[in-house]
Amino acid sequence: MDAIQVYIIVRSRDAVRCQEISRRTERQIMLLTCKIRHSYDFDDELAKAKQVAQFAIDNRVQSTKHIKHIGLKSVIANQILRKYSRNRKAKIARRVKLTLPQQGIKQDGTIVRIPSLGVDFDTWKSLGEIKQVEADSQFFYVTYRVDVPPLTKPTAWIGIDVNATKHIAVAALPTGKVIKLGKQAPHIHQKYKAIRKRLQSKGKYGAVKKIKNRESRIIKDINHKISRKLVNVAQQTGCGLRLERLTGIRKNTKKYHKRGNHKLNSWSFYQLQQFIGYKAELSGVAVEYIDASYTSQRCSRCASLGERVNKSFECPSCGHVDHADVNAAFNIGQSLGERDSSEGSTDTPQTATALALSADRRTSLL
Ligand SMILES: [Zn+2]
Repeated sequence: MDAIQVYIIVRSRDAVRCQEISRRTERQIMLLTCKIRHSYDFDDELAKAKQVAQFAIDNRVQSTKHIKHIGLKSVIANQILRKYSRNRKAKIARRVKLTLPQQGIKQDGTIVRIPSLGVDFDTWKSLGEIKQVEADSQFFYVTYRVDVPPLTKPTAWIGIDVNATKHIAVAALPTGKVIKLGKQAPHIHQKYKAIRKRLQSKGKYGAVKKIKNRESRIIKDINHKISRKLVNVAQQTGCGLRLERLTGIRKNTKKYHKRGNHKLNSWSFYQLQQFIGYKAELSGVAVEYIDASYTSQRCSRCASLGERVNKSFECPSCGHVDHADVNAAFNIGQSLGERDSSEGSTDTPQTATALALSADRRTSLL
């Protein structure tokens, strides 16, 4: 089973922050996990769970008869034994969660009861069939089933450039419209980078980490909004979403440093793609990944190799001038190979002077 982990932030009325982790199982259903903060004290149970897990790793047995003395509720112990006895790589049990199977959970509207732990909590929204609940010292992780709608056959593709220099993403619609999203991201990055530098020079490393986490949360929130917006636009226009394939992105971030003047970490682009991927799937929107080569170097009108001068792209062949990211987004949408040279970014400007004007006109910011 390919496990793809995706995090969503859901804000409920009570500002309880949920997080969802999607685990793709089959085509038709998706398992999402919602993360809900709790204030229960599970220290005792978690310590026992760790002992059970360590026993499972050391002895590779699944029977509960040898671990009765530990005193963990058998419904939970069973799950942990099964999980850790199968894990051939684990040597030491770390971060063991209390795991409740479906039969150990009672669902009553948005209220989830766990009789074996004597606790209950509110999920704040109706989640459908809950398959599993895990708990650690801070959160409940509620895994529930979501039915995936059939894929809508796209009439055309929206090209998305996710290494945009000034925005997180630039989307080019088949109509020639351009949507620029996440303009604030570089400023956020610069701001937190400066704060981190200051703290680092004072040797406040704990604070540095805290600031880093805060930045990650903000970027994640922006990525959620951008992915939602893109999927909504695709759904409304009957289009699919087409992105560059970001393989090996974690290892090689050079490209982004070369192209971008804001050096947002590659994980944020990777995260955005993950968000787009699963949200699209939940909305029946098609997503396609294309080879990244030449999307930033070729003209979106005539496919000739052009030149990138600062933020703009200039084609020596047809004289086409455009914002470099916009040109890249149109190339992605047209997927180069299948493009017809008479099509393309129809409302993009002809000259450099027209560029600034029309960039404002065509831009809708998040
Ligand atoms: Zn050209």
